[in-house]
Amino acid sequence: MKNPFKLPRRAHLSRPWRWLVPVLLVLLFLAVLLWLPWQARQMESNERQEQLIADTLWVEQTLRFELARSEEALATLGADLVGTPPPPDVLRARLAQMFKNGHELRRVLWLDANGRVLAHHGAEPAGGSLDAIGRETDEMARLTRTGRYTEPYGASSHAPGLVDYYLPLYREATYAGSIVATYSLKILLDETVPWWFAQDNALSLLDRNDAIVASRADGGPGRGVYTHRRALDLPGASIVLATDSVKGAPRLLPNLLVGSVIVLALGLLLSLLTLWRHISRRLAAEGALRQQMAFRTAMENSLMTGLRARDLEGRVTYVNKAFCQMVGLPPEELLGKKPPMPYWAPEAMAEYEERFAAVLAGTATPQFETVFQRSDGVRVPVLVFEAPLRDSRGEQTGWMSSILDITDRKKAEELNRQQQEKLEASARLATMGEISSMLAHELNQPLAAISSYTAGALNVLERADSGVPVEPNLLRRALEQARQQAQRAGQIIKSVHEFVKKSEPQREQVEIKSVIDGVRALVELQARKSYVALQVHLPPQLPPVLADRLMLEQVLLNLTRNGIEAMAEVAPERRILRIAAAADPSQVSVSVIDHGHGIAPDVAERLFSPFFSTKAEGMGMGLSICRTAIEFHGGTLTHAPNPGGGTVFTFSLPRQGASAELQ
Ligand code: ADP
Repeated sequence: MKNPFKLPRRAHLSRPWRWLVPVLLVLLFLAVLLWLPWQARQMESNERQEQLIADTLWVEQTLRFELARSEEALATLGADLVGTPPPPDVLRARLAQMFKNGHELRRVLWLDANGRVLAHHGAEPAGGSLDAIGRETDEMARLTRTGRYTEPYGASSHAPGLVDYYLPLYREATYAGSIVATYSLKILLDETVPWWFAQDNALSLLDRNDAIVASRADGGPGRGVYTHRRALDLPGASIVLATDSVKGAPRLLPNLLVGSVIVLALGLLLSLLTLWRHISRRLAAEGALRQQMAFRTAMENSLMTGLRARDLEGRVTYVNKAFCQMVGLPPEELLGKKPPMPYWAPEAMAEYEERFAAVLAGTATPQFETVFQRSDGVRVPVLVFEAPLRDSRGEQTGWMSSILDITDRKKAEELNRQQQEKLEASARLATMGEISSMLAHELNQPLAAISSYTAGALNVLERADSGVPVEPNLLRRALEQARQQAQRAGQIIKSVHEFVKKSEPQREQVEIKSVIDGVRALVELQARKSYVALQVHLPPQLPPVLADRLMLEQVLLNLTRNGIEAMAEVAPERRILRIAAAADPSQVSVSVIDHGHGIAPDVAERLFSPFFSTKAEGMGMGLSICRTAIEFHGGTLTHAPNPGGGTVFTFSLPRQGASAELQ
């Protein structure tokens, strides 16, 4: 059966290896996410190091440049001193100017060829001459004929280191003395290195033993992370410029990139987890749903009841197996179909269309009987229950019908009806059997009377033959009596004949009075035998009813017989059976009233059950047949205690106008 609610199978999700690819991808993604900040940190570190190297190089160049400038100024001074020595005050002024231009310059000496101080600016050397190192350097400078530096000296914890520069002077290629300049390395650093560099880096000048001879650390000591060394490359001196950044290694956490990566990774993990949980829950729900669906489908397929769903336009959206079997069509030929349906019987088209219009108008009858035509043309009586089909929001989306094949029920009803009819016939025969002996006895009376009246008449005629004058009145009376008795006998026989004759119910306009008259002879016959007096009270204007006369007669006979039998034990003067009739605007009622033993509650419960009887030779069919017959006419049969003792049985039939409507 096609099922519109069926879920597509997602078996692939249940296979665990299918998860492997996304999981691996996520792991890769996480690895990249974690590697990225590390790489960024590394790059940043490299960048800082490179920057420091470049800056250190630049500082070294600046220092060299400053010293070179000073060397040049000294060379110019030297040339002047060797050529035409300026007067002492001019020399002093010139040296003062040089000191002003370069604060790092602490002392300038002018030595003659023998190393004696000719002039000096700044502090004079101890003893007025050079020390051993000074002489050695001066010697080297003279030999190489170029300016030369000493190793840094004089550095201590409270005094910065100094360095001397020896410049040999020549007059026409003859050594003519030297100029010695002393520089303070600390001041050189302070003056030459720009503040922004000193702020970011701790600078120091180291001698050949790596001992610090001068340092500058405006921004605090260096961290030892980014460091660089660069030799100053001064002839004769091995001074190294060492820089050490105050910045530490880039920290990982405050880094924006790292922060966002971690947040992203956490977010991703969280959403993955949520997604995983959601999917697991969904899968569980789907599994449960699929199980439910399988259960329902099995249930629907095992149902004997046909199911059919239609949308609001009457298009068939779902049919189950039982429905398909009922109409003999496969689901493909039913789904999506709009009226007229292939299973509509041509003769009931108008009825279907009327009902379908009601369905569209939203006023469908919740339950009704109709007939479907199976594909082989066989008519299938069905009972249809309609219920609105609602979606999850409670809005109506169509109609769901359950359809019962009531062929068997109809057959059973028909069989029941036929059996009932047979039972009625046999009950009538039984009743007739019971009364036939009484009939014979009763017929004896009129027959005997007829016989005696005719014998009397014959006697009169015989006497006339022998000459006795005929008395015409006597003869007429005897014959009249004989005719009446013959008629009565005929009536008794006719009514019995009619009653036992099995015939289909034939409705006609029936006067209650004529019904009573029809059975009166038989009732009286029974009544007389039991010494019961029969009283009939009929209002003058009793309307007719539409009924089967024989059936009504049978009902009346049964009720009167029961009444008579109920009075068998009561005192003879109380044995009165009354038949009374009344009419109101809707119905006509006939009551049979006796003064018998009445009906005990336990008897009353089973009164109308077939074969229930309290009598030794009773069949127990009478009341059951009566009720069936009355209900067949759209009426009711009731009983009530008679206030004066005994029982009142009343049957009511709809009046002619009302009766036609009911049928
Ligand atoms: P039957 O007369 O063959 O017993 P009925 O179906 O006619 O079958 O009646 C069933 C029972 O109802 C009777 O056996 C009797 O006990 C009770 N019954 C019927 N009519 C009366 C009545 N008028 N008064 C008292 N009991 C009655």
